[in-house]
Formats: sequence, structure tokens, C-alpha cells
Amino acid sequence: MGGKLISLAERKDAFLSLERRIHDLVVIGGGITGAGIAWQASEMGLDTVLLEMNDFASGTSSRSTKLIHGGLRYLVNKEFNLVRESGRERGKLYERMPHLIQPIDVLLPLYEKGSISRFKLRLGLGIYDFLAQVRKRDRKRMLSAGQTMKQEPLLKKNGLKGAGMYREYLTDDARLVIAVLKTAASHGAVCLNYSPVKSIEMKTASSQGAGVAGESGSVLVHDLIDGGEFRIRARKIVNATGPWVGNLDESLKAKLVFTKGVHLVFDWNGLPVKQAIYFQNTDGRFVFIIPRDGVVYVGTTDTKFEGDPADVVVDAGDVDYLLAALYSVLEGVSLNPEHVISAWAGVRVLVNQPGKEYSEISRKEEIAVHPSGLVSIAGGKLTGFRKMAWRVLTAIGYPTKGKTARFVEDADFSEFHGLAGFGELMFREGRAKKISDEWVKGWLCRYGTSVAKLIALTPAGATTETLVIIELNWCLENESVVHPADFLERRSGFVQFQPDLARQSSRRVFFRCGEILGWDVAKIELEHKKFASRYIYEQKP
Ligand code: FAD
Repeated sequence: MGGKLISLAERKDAFLSLERRIHDLVVIGGGITGAGIAWQASEMGLDTVLLEMNDFASGTSSRSTKLIHGGLRYLVNKEFNLVRESGRERGKLYERMPHLIQPIDVLLPLYEKGSISRFKLRLGLGIYDFLAQVRKRDRKRMLSAGQTMKQEPLLKKNGLKGAGMYREYLTDDARLVIAVLKTAASHGAVCLNYSPVKSIEMKTASSQGAGVAGESGSVLVHDLIDGGEFRIRARKIVNATGPWVGNLDESLKAKLVFTKGVHLVFDWNGLPVKQAIYFQNTDGRFVFIIPRDGVVYVGTTDTKFEGDPADVVVDAGDVDYLLAALYSVLEGVSLNPEHVISAWAGVRVLVNQPGKEYSEISRKEEIAVHPSGLVSIAGGKLTGFRKMAWRVLTAIGYPTKGKTARFVEDADFSEFHGLAGFGELMFREGRAKKISDEWVKGWLCRYGTSVAKLIALTPAGATTETLVIIELNWCLENESVVHPADFLERRSGFVQFQPDLARQSSRRVFFRCGEILGWDVAKIELEHKKFASRYIYEQKP
């Protein structure tokens, strides 16, 4: 299969062949947790299948703050091990996929009214740098009030005591999942989206002896695209379904609590911050302001959530909360709900710790190993996915010592002396075809070394519309795009970060996907209308 995910045309055969043998491992859930487990397992040589009920990364893993981070905030809860592990992991991930992970400096301003003293911040950032093994040149700096204002003139001057500047790493969470899944596929894992697992059947210890050697259970999976149900047998089954984990593992249900996290996106011209800011809101919570490619996103909220995680939405209260937070720290900006050009909401799953506030509950994952052989994993962070995978595989008895997954698909820039050298070459090739550097950069960040193939497929002087369709076709063939939203939201990120481009190109994208899905024109128009009405950016005049 190479480092490619299964296309629409290949699905049927893939399902049929899965039924023919017993697999070492079935992973349920195609967010970062499941993807990481599939990567680690397949790299170890295990015959691995991953099943996702919707699109890959359509759950929490496309709705995060998009930071590969050590979690400075967790120092407050004295979670030193979590900070140490996350901090070190982010360095390793940056090394392995530099096109997808970008270092940024973050300014943490201190105000007289805030609860953090200069001493506490200096100490905290120092501990953070030490635990996360931050390189000398990237370590924290403390700034005076004057220096802080110079660094970020939009900050409120009144009561400003200074700031700390520290290092974070920005990513695209959905693209991270796809990169990890493609790497798993390159090691032979079969990963299928739109494949909900309806039930898990674990064999009892006595029937295991009677069955085929080593088989411990099976899952019943529905193919939502071509129809039909399939029973896939496996030696081990891992339930990595994020906020849905309790649906397939009753034993966890009572322990879980959920919170909603919302991010809002603004045009940079309306919120022209010079750099990323992490500030303490008036209620004591911390909020990020992150500029990125012409837009700025702000988040997150952290409110109790009940109900189906699939139904999580941004509501007016979330918008008001984040706008008020912005006004508490910035001046000279004039923003209201009309200025929100895009937004996303996600659900955190936390393992309840009685007596603790939600914000105090550990973000470390919980792994439940059942006597039947079923393993469930709940909680955790995007950043820790490799370590989480390692712990899951260790828990089910695979010897993982010293085997944390290394190589990443589309990310080997070594023969070009690194990402910068490869980028220069691609810019030159792009210019020869009149593709802008900005566009090539977007492709490079999303597709790594595969940008070369995309450029090769592009005719000279291609219009923006043609460039979008070339990218879409690439994703249809290589990245398991089925529905238009898979491309517009999670492969390209247009909806979140280039909403104008999403608006301009969405109809063409719907027609191309609709053609492959066998939809008639009326259905394409209807689906496009439904999609457009879901987004704030389309509802504007
Ligand atoms: P999910 O991504 O939700 O994946 C679970 C998948 O299982 C879903 O795609 C779902 O469709 C699928 N599924 C469910 N049931 C079935 C079934 N029956 N059959 C098949 N598939 C099924 N972490 C960081 O490191 N950095 C951050 O900046 C950060 N910011 C965050 C901000 C917010 C607002 C939130 C909510 C979380 C944030 N996190 C962050 C945490 C991180 O996003 C999550 O820990 C991570 O994405 C969870 O991944 P997951 O794979 O466990 O869950």
C-alpha cells in the first residue's frame, strides 16, 4: 500500500480481504490516539487494522489548540512527569516532521491584578525549560513592561508588570493524524474511515482455546460507503475512541467527565497581534491568541459538556466569553461576534478525580486492560501520542522497549540538507510553473515531500481553482477523502484558516466528490447548501 491511505475505489476489496485472516491488532478510532497505536504497532511488524466511524481526525483531534506542547499549565497542578514527557516528546516530533510542526515564541504577560508574580513565572518557565530539555537558545526570557509593549503593542498597558517569553510548537492536528496514519499504512496497516464498529465480541478464556490460535475477539464493522457489515477477527482489540470510549466499554462510562473547548478565528486585520500570547483571563483560566497565515485564533473555553460529542457546537456564550477575554488583555481592537470568520468546538474526555475541579483533573491518559483482552484508552494529549501508543502496546503484552516509532512518511528531507533546502528547491520548481511561493509553502506544510508530486501534476499558469482541484484529486487518491468536508476541513484546513478560499472553491469540490460518490446534481447542490449553512463564514452577506 506504500504510504497511501485507501481510496474510495479500493475500499470494497480492502474489507473483503480483512475478513480472510486473523489480525494481530484491531484499533478502533482514527484520532491521534488510534493513529499513534496503529503506527507503533505496524512499525513493530504487527498486522494492524484501524477503523474510524467518521472521517479520520473528525473527533477531538481536529479541534484542539493545535499545539505540540509541554503543557506549562500542568506545572500549576504539579504534574511534573507529564510536563517532562510532553516537553521532550515535542522536540522529538519536531525533529521527525518539521514540515508539520513550527516553533513559535509565546508571550505571557503579567498584570498587577493577575495571580502570578514575576518570581513565580520566572521559576515556572525555568522549571519548564529544564523538564522539557529546551535548547539554550530557545529558553525563556523575562521582559520588562516596556519591552513587553514593544513586543506586542496591542496589550493593555495599564497594570502591565512585564512578561515571560517561552517556546511552543504549532501544528495542524488533523494533518498530524493523516501523516501518522500514512506512516502506519507504509508499514502495512489497513486504515479505513467511515467504518463504525457496531459491537465488540471478546471470546471467553475457554472458547479462546477452541478457536484459532491466539484469536481473542472480533469486531462487527459497518461500511458506511459501500454498505455491508464485516466481522474482523483479531488477537488484540484496542478501543481508542476518545470521547466515545464509554460506548464500547461500559466499565469506563461512570468514570468519565467531558468538557467543551471552543476556538474562534478572526481575520488578522481585525486582530493584528504581532505574536502569540498566552494570558490569564479574569476568571483565572489561561487563553491563547495565536496568529497563523493571515488569521488569528483564540481559545479555549473549558465548560462542562453533556450529550453526544458529535453534537458539540460553538454557542453564543462561548463567543461572548472569548471576546470578553480578548478585551480583558488587549486594547485598540474592536471585535464583535460578526468578526468571527470560523470556529471549532471539541470535547475533552477526562478521567474523573473526585474532589477536583475540572481544570485540576490530570490530562494524563487512563488505560484499562480487561481480562477478555480488550484494552481501552481514555484521555491524554495530542502531544503524547507516541508514548501513549507505547504504553498501550506494553499493556497488551507486546515488547516495546526502545521501540518508539521513528520514521514518518513524507518527512525525510535529509538528502536536501533539511526542510529549508527542500523548500528552496520546491519554490524554484513552483516558480517555473508560476505557482506562488505562498501556495507551495501551504502544500509543503500539508504534504511534506509529496509537494513535489503535486507540483509535477500542475500545468504551468494554473488558476487557484485548478490548484485546489489538483490537491483534492491527490487527497482522493492518497488520503482517503470521501466527502467534500474531509478535504475542506481536515486535509486542506481551508475552512478554518482560509475561509475565503473555502467559500470560493467549495462548490467545485462538492461537484468533484459528488461525481465520484455517484450523486446527481440535485443531491450535490443540496449537500453543498447544507455544508455551507453550517459555517459562520457562509452565513455572511
Ligand atoms: P478523538 O480525536 O476524538 O478520536 C476518537 C475517534 O474515534 C473519533 O474520530 C471517532 O469518530 C472515533 N470513533 C468513536 N466511536 C467509534 C466507533 N464505534 N467505531 C469507529 N470509530 C469510532 N492536546 C495537545 O497536545 N495540544 C493541544 O493544543 C490540545 N488542545 C486541546 C484543545 C481542546 C479544546 C481539546 C478538547 C483538547 C485539546 N488537546 C490538546 C487534547 C487532544 O486534542 C486530545 O487528547 C486528542 O485529540 C484525543 O485524541 P483521541 O484520538 O483520543 O480522540
